[in-house]
Amino acid sequence: MSEAIQKKEIKCLSIEELKADLKEMREKPFRAGQIFKWLHEAVESFDEMTNLSKELRAKLSERYELTVPICVRKQVSQVDGTRKYLWQMRGGDCVESVLMRYEHGNTVCVSTQVGCRMGCKFCASGLFGLKRHLSAGEILDEVLFIQKESGEPVSNIVLMGTGEPLDNYENVLKFLHLVSCPGGIQIGQRHISLSTSGLADKIELLANEKLQITLSISLHAPDDESRSSIMPVDKRYPVARLMQACAYYFDTTGRRISYEYMMARGKTDRPWQAEKLASLLRGRPAHVNLIPLNPVKESPLQPSSRDTVRKFQQILERHGVTATVRRKLGPDIDAACGQLRRRTLEEGEIIQ
Ligand code: SAH
Ligand code: SF4
Repeated sequence: MSEAIQKKEIKCLSIEELKADLKEMREKPFRAGQIFKWLHEAVESFDEMTNLSKELRAKLSERYELTVPICVRKQVSQVDGTRKYLWQMRGGDCVESVLMRYEHGNTVCVSTQVGCRMGCKFCASGLFGLKRHLSAGEILDEVLFIQKESGEPVSNIVLMGTGEPLDNYENVLKFLHLVSCPGGIQIGQRHISLSTSGLADKIELLANEKLQITLSISLHAPDDESRSSIMPVDKRYPVARLMQACAYYFDTTGRRISYEYMMARGKTDRPWQAEKLASLLRGRPAHVNLIPLNPVKESPLQPSSRDTVRKFQQILERHGVTATVRRKLGPDIDAACGQLRRRTLEEGEIIQ
């Protein structure tokens, strides 16, 4: 293992942890706030921290690793300005993040793992399995460096890129605290959404943290037969168990849950499935996002027709369940999550 990897990653530390370290180094604890602010401005070397003495900068660089992702590929949509970035992290691993422009502000979609082990049949991110977890600092880097590179302020974050956030629970939780606490980029928790394929036990753990983030469940089918055929996680946590965890999440945090529902022709889009979904959500504060499936070439699944999606939506609404059809952003670039990384891996441009 190289020396750089053994050093503590400075961007994984909270202000309190930095303070404790500084004390140990016989430095003034108030420097922690200054350092934290520099880190969140995406400095690329300790020497950029110009309000610290040369001696302290040297001590920091000896003690800590400062991660700096390299942008190896970028796609900008000519249609709506969506920007997709492929970052090379330490050790050469590549992850992608997307900057989306909405009326209510700029949203960054971050990856939480290099690859994913959940194996959903429709997803490009899972095709190569899981390589490794991202650290809290590396997830934070995606946000900080997009803000720096684009010159645009980021106001919202969605954890919907490659990876299953709750499979990297500790690091993701740490990231949520780092990105929302005072003194840094400070994105309010109400402006953060976490999407999960449904690890029920982790949803309950997260509920106990009582964060103000929005939890988004990738449900995609209301019955175990269809769901388990496209999402292996359903075998471990069937729909009933997942819904139980969702009820606990709402009861504990008071936050309404958002359900992602992918419309796959003949698989998840049948009228009885809309009825079943409505009965699952009856009496629960919930919002459904209907997402047209984005075809990936390794899977036979195809998107539903517009008409089918509209009919599905109508059934839900008839039962009092609010549902919106998600607008597709960046239609002219590799839009679905994992596609840019996948294409780059296939072309062999980046060696992993
Ligand atoms: N692992 C988490 C978060 C990342 S995936 C999760 O599964 O929720 C983000 C979202 O993109 C999920 O709702 C996922 O189901 C969806 N998704 C993945 N591949 C897709 C595809 N080909 N078409 C449409 N949605 C897709
Ligand atoms: Fe992983 Fe989410 Fe893709 Fe499933 S949809 S393979 S959980 S990234």
